[in-house]
Amino acid sequence: MNAFSRRGACPALSAPMQTGDGLLVRLNPVAGGLAPKALIGLGESALRHGNGIVEVTARGSLQIRGLTADSARLLAAEVDALGIEVRSGVPVETGPLAGIDPDEIADPRPLAEKIRAAIEEVGLAARLGPKVSVVVDGGGQLAMDGVTADVRLKAARAGPGVVWSVSVTGDARSARPLTTADADAARDIAVATLRMVAEKGREAHTRDLSERQLNSLAGWHSVAPLSVLPDISPSRGEIGSVPARSPFSTLQVSETSGGSVISPLEGEMSGRTERGASRKPIGLFPLAHDTLTLGIALPYGSMPAQNLIDLARQASNLGVTEIRLAPGRALLFLGQPATANQPLQASAATLGFVTSPADPRTRIAACPGTPACASGRIATRAIAEIIAKQSPDLFDAALTLHISGCAKGCAHPGAAAITLVGDENGAGLVVDGTAKGLPAGYRPGYDAAGGIRRVAAAIRSAQFQGETAAACLTRLGAAAITEAYRQE
Ligand code: SF4
Repeated sequence: MNAFSRRGACPALSAPMQTGDGLLVRLNPVAGGLAPKALIGLGESALRHGNGIVEVTARGSLQIRGLTADSARLLAAEVDALGIEVRSGVPVETGPLAGIDPDEIADPRPLAEKIRAAIEEVGLAARLGPKVSVVVDGGGQLAMDGVTADVRLKAARAGPGVVWSVSVTGDARSARPLTTADADAARDIAVATLRMVAEKGREAHTRDLSERQLNSLAGWHSVAPLSVLPDISPSRGEIGSVPARSPFSTLQVSETSGGSVISPLEGEMSGRTERGASRKPIGLFPLAHDTLTLGIALPYGSMPAQNLIDLARQASNLGVTEIRLAPGRALLFLGQPATANQPLQASAATLGFVTSPADPRTRIAACPGTPACASGRIATRAIAEIIAKQSPDLFDAALTLHISGCAKGCAHPGAAAITLVGDENGAGLVVDGTAKGLPAGYRPGYDAAGGIRRVAAAIRSAQFQGETAAACLTRLGAAAITEAYRQE
């Protein structure tokens, strides 16, 4: 096993990950966004060295696939030559508009920087698994609610000041709240939490912390300096050097974990849907000084590199000075005059990008499938495109369609209202289940969209006034939906 072959690792430039279609590199620029010229250069590198596809994940990372060990090295050199500094170490993520959003409760960047510095100071990066992450969310128009993390800090107003609510394991909806603290205490609790995770080993996450550990973190409101935080004793496997006021005095690493579950770095798979109630990063968002940023998404998180290059060129011509990656598989364009937004949106739509939050493609999770993935049995994204065009009325706010090339279900591990899954029999239909569920009916893969068209028609004809497609689907039941899907 070498640095290029360890699955599950975060494939930053120096350590690409082996996938079904070669090596994959994932990168996040250190400072905000990229100049259009840098994104053009990156797209050209992807064309030269990868499979010609660029992806933006649900967490807002950029991915290039189809690399070899040699081409990955060339790509890394070119990224360097473009002057793109990429993030490494434990991800401490802030929102894409952090520090420039007039609606945010607090600028999360200083606290995120303090946490990064503390992680560095106590040497945690090497002791934590590559998928352990922290979110520092200042709130605002594009909150990080749908992004899962081991530790979440979210700004909240407290009279004239700001406090940070600390929670662990999950997204904004599912994470377990611990406590509320000022910035310094929140940083200390975050770092202490990570130290506990590190003590449990490189495979551990906050989901592995015991009730006692979580309770002690929740009860800790002190602002003890980092220097008095407990040390980790690798030999004994226990927390030592415990200050009198610390909750750590009772902690033992042999305790069993709580029952909560996290899918670490969920969302790094392109095509995966996001959870949580965050607003989609698509459309216009007001910034300070009467300026606007324009959000444009990649369908299923994926686009031919040439289309991305063309869009970045057009953006540059229209005066865009910065392009940021955003959670929700999107790009945010900044710096342009207001008159540039409409032509930029029009160009993006022509190139196949998602320019409206109501676009049905935002309700479809589709993994790469065939031909991109060797395990795929159906052409997921081609099917998705046809369904989005033919059956747009199927997608209301509550209905999610998952199209999976195989039973692995990379793009949407959870249940979806409708799942199409490829196997040796064709495109199987699973109602209200996951890609691992037993399909109730099949159509040939090339005609899966035809089956969904019939499902949409069945729902349309049975829908009560005001009833959502999802509610109607539930009322009709799996047997009726399967019958419609199989209809000739
Ligand atoms: S779900 Fe199957 S076909 Fe789709 S990307 Fe994952 S392994 Fe490949």
